[in-house]
Amino acid sequence: MLRTRAPLCRRTFLQSAAGAVGSATLSAALNNANAAPKISKQAVAYQDHPDGDKRCERCTQFQPPDACKMVDGQISPQGSCRIFIPSRQS
Ligand code: SF4
Repeated sequence: MLRTRAPLCRRTFLQSAAGAVGSATLSAALNNANAAPKISKQAVAYQDHPDGDKRCERCTQFQPPDACKMVDGQISPQGSCRIFIPSRQS
């Protein structure tokens, strides 16, 4: 009788390896696997002032108090850039 086993995905493999490598190391590996490189301010024409109603504190990518999920570096809540995405609350 043949047994079928579900394929082992990368995340499951990494989680099962936790006992061997320690949870702190695993956590760092998962964070790095999910982290995407950020775009430079210059590439998205970031400016430290609003563009009309567009400002970072109203963007879905903004991470208070001064960061962005997509753009590298310190981000002003009053800044703006070309990849602004309005949040539902704005
Ligand atoms: S407008 Fe949005 S995507 Fe652009 S820097 Fe500000 S928070 Fe990031």
